[in-house]
Amino acid sequence: MIADATESPDPVRRPDKDHYFLLIALAARTRADCLGRRVGAVITREGRVLSTGYNGTPFGMPNCSEGGCHRCSQRTADPLLRGGAYDVCICVHAEQNAILTAARFGQQVLGASLTSTMQPCFGCLKEMLQAGINEVHFLHPWDPMEAYGDPALIAQYAALRARFTSFVQVGDPATDTPQLFRDFVGPRQS
Ligand SMILES: [Zn+2]
Ligand SMILES: [Zn+2]
Repeated sequence: MIADATESPDPVRRPDKDHYFLLIALAARTRADCLGRRVGAVITREGRVLSTGYNGTPFGMPNCSEGGCHRCSQRTADPLLRGGAYDVCICVHAEQNAILTAARFGQQVLGASLTSTMQPCFGCLKEMLQAGINEVHFLHPWDPMEAYGDPALIAQYAALRARFTSFVQVGDPATDTPQLFRDFVGPRQS
């Protein structure tokens, strides 16, 4: 028998579809170029991948890490830019990029699911709803109460998420990459 580099005496765990899509979202995240949180997302339909996205500046614009986003580069210095000015942040979110990549290549997202490495923000949630995405899965949760403060905004975020047939946390945030990849990608190192 010819030895194969991918062979392992240990059986490699095979991820279920939720973890499979999460791993793809995490792989997409490795490409993220944003001084803020790095996020990856994948849109799937009927168990198949339609598109992926990660956050960063629009195509052809200087990268966020190169000072391409004024808001991101000033977010620690300017309190106004830290908590607000989302509408003038030039970075495109991972979920938006996944939707827009589907649009760019003519993939229908009506009835699709989206898996993100992060619970989607207010803006992405409304765009996913309007694009016809049904299910939202995410690895890292956050509390809208802490993020938005304003009770009316929190209620609107809750109303948006209630429109999805599922809006659930998947995977174990404590085992983010590289641990997740180590669990599922063979061969085992000792
Ligand atoms: Zn940025
Ligand atoms: Zn977002």
